[in-house]
Amino acid sequence: MVVLKTARELRCMRAAGRISQRALRLAGQAVEPGVTTKEIDDIVRKYIEEQGATPSFLGYGGFPASACISVNNVVIHGIPSEKCVLKQGDIVSIDVGAFYDGFHGDNAWTFACGDVSAEKQALMKATEESLFIGIKQAVVGARIGDIGHAVQEYVELRSYSVVRDFVGHGVGAKLHEDPSVPNYGTPGRGVRLMPGMAIAIEPMVNMGSHEVRKLDDGWTTVTADGKPAAHYEHTIAITPDGPVILTLPD
Ligand code: MG
Repeated sequence: MVVLKTARELRCMRAAGRISQRALRLAGQAVEPGVTTKEIDDIVRKYIEEQGATPSFLGYGGFPASACISVNNVVIHGIPSEKCVLKQGDIVSIDVGAFYDGFHGDNAWTFACGDVSAEKQALMKATEESLFIGIKQAVVGARIGDIGHAVQEYVELRSYSVVRDFVGHGVGAKLHEDPSVPNYGTPGRGVRLMPGMAIAIEPMVNMGSHEVRKLDDGWTTVTADGKPAAHYEHTIAITPDGPVILTLPD
């Protein structure tokens, strides 16, 4: 069931989104060779808790950290660890959610650790751009399939692939609400977008094939072919004036 939000609720969501975006930026600023993903997770948790908010992911389904930190061939749900030391040339996808005043904000970004290869830079750029291509489709009267189709077409024209096994989602009082927001689809198909919907659009793009597999820890999801992946996400509101990004710093 899709839960529509009132204008007041969307304002609350903007506050949660602001905290999650600022935490994500702090995390990104900490990305450099020699830093562990555990240290970055600590920064995220500390910032969110200082704002009087709660890290959305901590304990969610048993997830043991505040941020998902996914390096290179890890697509999503990487578990921060003191054993995971970042090195020059890594690309680091960080996914952060904050729960504040009854609502969640959810966002993700892929950061470069020092100088990264031109190949990885191109993957990051295309994935980031595909997010904004998807957001542009999120207008009243359009359908979920319009978003997925736009993202998929943009990504596949550049010979990358979109992950099928994980998708974007509605966001609100719960971290994951209806509808699902796949990064693939058919124009004109799926749930119709209405004012008051809030959704996370989050392209996960692989340099090679779209296939992924989960490691034995039950979380870490890697590309099946070992090639790098990137991940960008914003929480947005559907409004009569067009899509509004809720995960902005101010
Ligand atoms: Mg999400």
